Amino acid sequence: MENESCVFCEIMVNRKPEDIVFEDEQVTVFHDINPQAPVHLLIVPKKHIAKLSDVTEQDSKILCRMMEIAREMAVKMNLNQQGFRLVMNEGKDSGQSIFHMHLHMLSGRRLMWPPG
Ligand code: AMP
Ligand code: ZN
Repeated sequence: MENESCVFCEIMVNRKPEDIVFEDEQVTVFHDINPQAPVHLLIVPKKHIAKLSDVTEQDSKILCRMMEIAREMAVKMNLNQQGFRLVMNEGKDSGQSIFHMHLHMLSGRRLMWPPG
C-alpha cells in the first residue's frame, strides 16, 4: 500500500529493525527524527492515507488501532505515570509536513497548553 514518494512509506519498506519501536500488521511505531520532547514517537498506519479527513469508513478501524497502540505504549513505557500528549496535525494551518497520517506521542517533559 506504499506510495513511492512518501517518506513514511519509504521508512516502513526499508526499515531497520532497530529503528522500529513496535509494529503489527496495520501500524508501525518509530522515533521522530527531530524529537520535540524526551519521548517523541510516531504512530503510523502502514496504509498510505494522507490525512485524517481522507479515512474512509472501511479504514476507520485503523484509527482505533492507532489509539489502542498509543495506550499500549503508554503502559509499556510507563508514560502514564507523568503523562503524555497525542497530536495529529492536518493541513497547512496545523503545520502538517508529512502527508501520511500519523499520531505524535510526546512525553518526558511538561508540555505547554495551549500549543503554539
Ligand atoms: P507533521 O509535521 O505532523 O506532519 O509531522 C511530521 C514529523 O515527521 C515531524 O515531527 C518530523 O520531525 C518527522 N520526520 C520527518 N522525517 C522523518 C524521518 N525520516 N524519520 C522520522 N521522523 C521524521
Ligand atoms: Zn505514505
